[in-house]
Amino acid sequence: MKWSKILISTLRESPADAEIDSHKLLVRAGLVRKVGAGLYAYLPLGMRTLRKIQQIVREEMDNAGAQEIVTPILQPSELWKTSHRWETMGANMFKLTDRAEHEFALGPTAEEVFTDIAKGLVDSYRQLPLTIYQMQWKFRDETRPRFGLMRSKEFLMKDAYSFDRDAEGADKSYWNMYKAYEKVFSRCGLKAVPVQADGGDMGDSLTHEFHVLADAGEDGIAWCEGCGYAANLERAERKALVAESSQASDALLEEVATPNARTIEEVASFLGLESNAFVKSLVYAVDGKPVMVCIPGDRDVNEVKLKRFLGAKNLALATPSEVEEATGAKAGFVGPVKPANETMRIVADISLKGATGRIVGANKDDYHLNGVNLARDTKIADYTDLTIVKSGDICPVCGKPMVIKRGIEVGQVFKLGTKYTEAFKAVYKTAELNEKTMIMGCYGIGVSRTLQAVIEQNHDKDGIIWPSSIAPYKVIVELLDPSQEEVAKVANYLETALEEAGIDTIVDDREERPGVKFKDADLIGFPVRVVVGAKGLTAGGVEIKRRDEEKSATRIVSPNKALEVIKSLL
Ligand code: ATP
Ligand code: MG
Repeated sequence: MKWSKILISTLRESPADAEIDSHKLLVRAGLVRKVGAGLYAYLPLGMRTLRKIQQIVREEMDNAGAQEIVTPILQPSELWKTSHRWETMGANMFKLTDRAEHEFALGPTAEEVFTDIAKGLVDSYRQLPLTIYQMQWKFRDETRPRFGLMRSKEFLMKDAYSFDRDAEGADKSYWNMYKAYEKVFSRCGLKAVPVQADGGDMGDSLTHEFHVLADAGEDGIAWCEGCGYAANLERAERKALVAESSQASDALLEEVATPNARTIEEVASFLGLESNAFVKSLVYAVDGKPVMVCIPGDRDVNEVKLKRFLGAKNLALATPSEVEEATGAKAGFVGPVKPANETMRIVADISLKGATGRIVGANKDDYHLNGVNLARDTKIADYTDLTIVKSGDICPVCGKPMVIKRGIEVGQVFKLGTKYTEAFKAVYKTAELNEKTMIMGCYGIGVSRTLQAVIEQNHDKDGIIWPSSIAPYKVIVELLDPSQEEVAKVANYLETALEEAGIDTIVDDREERPGVKFKDADLIGFPVRVVVGAKGLTAGGVEIKRRDEEKSATRIVSPNKALEVIKSLL
């Protein structure tokens, strides 16, 4: 294919809204064009890569025994009402109404639609296990669409759903998809690691997210170099040790004036103590009731864990007036010892079990209590894991210190159990003609996010470095002297030979300076570059170099040997 025949437009400048390298390069290389906030058009080069990724996903889904279907983007509200997610999905779901006042959603995902299909079509145990999937555009009204294709309002997702006879079968389906995901990402040239993830309102349900480790990632991941334990910070656990207190364990309770010192740091410096001598107390409004949460002073509450532990539907920090009502003091001076609301539930982090000699807010403005023994002085109801894991925390599996990494979630596999099949009464008949509820799993890949994640993981200061499996074209032939017939002939010969060998090739036939052409080739990131010019041909041949090699690695090869060399480089 000739460059001059394709709609390619590279940009020198990065778009103003691009914060991360992959977003800048995506737009500068002319792969996509912004249509609106979180909305993108895929241009010919971007489209080619997107289709290659889709093809890999398709092949691996088919290899895993999944069957492709496609379901409507426009989903009737009745389906969402059956699962009660019409109410719980919240503002993230685009809702609309037709002329007859029927309500619809633009599908943000499709558990409901697929469960309804399985319910309608599966009758007998003989039809199970069944995994069906689609590749369809999804819509989410993200609070903050950003990072280009990473968090957009409209994105391409592959979503698969498995239906099984029993838990054992569901387990098999889950690991089958897990393995298929490993293959998909590795074929896309992506290092994606599976990490344990939070099951959301599905509680302890087994689920893994596949993450591309990158500083630009929005998720934190606790990572153990020792044993390979990896978990999203929303879920990550640590081996909790009770931090040594800097005070004697039999200290007596003592009220100390701490005027105007509200934050742990302020009180610490006021009293000349370390922040881990403090117990930080926060009041949450949990489904309309106040709950106090106590954690070590140098830590943060993991609200995902808290919400799960309390089995809460709605959870948010209490307002200043709610705090005062519950404790009798302003935030900053509250604590677990005798709050105004004596029946308020108090929960504490597991690492505080048995803690003594601590400092807490006195539930009285401008005062703290020193020498607190939590078991002796408070009515803490539960001690459980409630904090966010930090770098240096102890791995719950092997006991080595963990580090925190950033990750981009490109896919997720999820054991759903019977949440949807029960709501839809999706049952099948066993061999004994008994009715049983199907057991379900769901499996998503962000196809468009994956495209950009590959760029985030494979680029340098000059541009993208595509893995050859998904590059828009595998080879670029730089035709330096397009007007010279002999030179153009060599370029055409290479183009034909490469195409016939199944290697998609683009010939840069533009009348441009070599410097401009090389810059564009590096920016777009074709895996192999072949330079065909009059000077080179007289000197012995064409110049071949891989995108990820230094200029000094360039090989001079006679045109009839070029195909073999290129093949070996790819
Ligand atoms: P996130 O936590 O990033 O919002 P999610 O966990 O809500 O994602 P899932 O419901 O698991 O997303 O969707 C499956 C996949 O779809 C994700 O793993 C991700 O790769 C992709 N995805 C989700 N939201 C978006 C989005 N707004 N833009 C692009 N891709 C997305
Ligand atoms: Mg997810």
